[in-house]
Amino acid sequence: MSRVLIIGAGGVGGVVATKCAAVPEVFSKIFLASRTLEKCEKIRSRINRSLEIAEVDADDVGQLVDLFEEVSPDLVINAALPYQDLAVMEACLATGVDYLDTANYEPRDEARFCYRSQWDYHHRFQKRGIMALLGCGFDPGVTNVFCAYAQKHVFDEIEGIEIMDCNGGDHGQPFATNFNPEINIREVTAPGRYYEDGRWIEVDPLSVKRSFDFPGIGTREMRLMYHEELESLAKNFPGVRRLRFWMTFSPQYLTHLRVLQNVGMTGIKPVVYKGMEVVPLQFLKALLPDPASLAENYEGNTCIGCLIDGKRDGEAKRYYIYNLCDHRKAYQEVGAQAVHYTTGVPAMIGALLIATGVWRGQGVYNVEEFDPDPFMELLPRYGLPWTEEFRE
Ligand code: NDP
Repeated sequence: MSRVLIIGAGGVGGVVATKCAAVPEVFSKIFLASRTLEKCEKIRSRINRSLEIAEVDADDVGQLVDLFEEVSPDLVINAALPYQDLAVMEACLATGVDYLDTANYEPRDEARFCYRSQWDYHHRFQKRGIMALLGCGFDPGVTNVFCAYAQKHVFDEIEGIEIMDCNGGDHGQPFATNFNPEINIREVTAPGRYYEDGRWIEVDPLSVKRSFDFPGIGTREMRLMYHEELESLAKNFPGVRRLRFWMTFSPQYLTHLRVLQNVGMTGIKPVVYKGMEVVPLQFLKALLPDPASLAENYEGNTCIGCLIDGKRDGEAKRYYIYNLCDHRKAYQEVGAQAVHYTTGVPAMIGALLIATGVWRGQGVYNVEEFDPDPFMELLPRYGLPWTEEFRE
């Protein structure tokens, strides 16, 4: 039995809270804290179980420590933004609480996606006797578990991993992002980067494309991007020659993005307007639809998976493992769209495995460092079935 504290009452936080609430035999007590109390209240009103809520500024370690001391959680699930990761980890260290998140730390003033600053906490977590599980959403998260599963059960040797994320859904809006707009646009406008033969190769943002026939969706064009799981997979699968991440974008999304970039609306450096400092991307976020609000009218599927090349018994094999998630079904079940659903469910599963002692360690870990089997077993049980097949 475990007391869990969820931080962040956005789209992902709402799914995590709803899914944890459905497992009372593990999560005996649930707390939800965020910057805006009304958002916690809104989530609580949708959940058929008692949930305690609180207001907290997760950039402030002191406030977090006070909150953790008040509610005594066994585990904190950080579903706020990447900016808060280090503050929440500090508060976990101060109070001796396990930590889980779905996105790596980013400084506000630089779109730098790397695990280094969180991996640097390893010895402090180890010394304190607690654990941190990083990147336990879908990608990163389930995609890393898929790789660990393929390594354990399918291949003797993995040569290349292509992670492919397709959202084949339609929300009816001219331009919107599927999760926090600020974080999403920082990610897609960053240079592309992939790993090959021991080095990182950088390309212009979204400049490399290829098509793939996604099950349940059809053929879509996808673009090469840098994504944080490439960094941890390169570290934890040192024999793999090539690691790449691809995401699909509609032509309409790309046109809007290009125009917004050209006029400077995606910038993260403050500009002075009428004597006030304004960060263009933060202002743009205020104008764009809240991704959670897309859920009601979202139709279609997401398909995220890994296409893996390698050898088994000396023979070359190509293996594809993926999940298909229906926006409408996700909405019917938890009131969220599939991108939030596919992030929140794995976060709950990771928390469950920590809470039950199945995944246990002292220090800071990425999900692929643990046995993938119990996680793979729980995915379909909690709403994310997966399919595997060999391909030519
Ligand atoms: P939202 O913007 O919908 O939610 C973020 C929540 O965090 C909001 O409720 C926000 O409060 C709260 N918050 C922000 N700053 C603070 C703060 N200083 N103190 C307390 N609370 C704060 O984002 P999403 O739910 O779309 O995304 C959440 C996280 O999930 C992001 O880090 C994102 O990168 C990650 N993600 C991971 C994926 C994966 O597969 N691994 C996929 C998609 C997302 P307020 O309501 O007041 O703004």
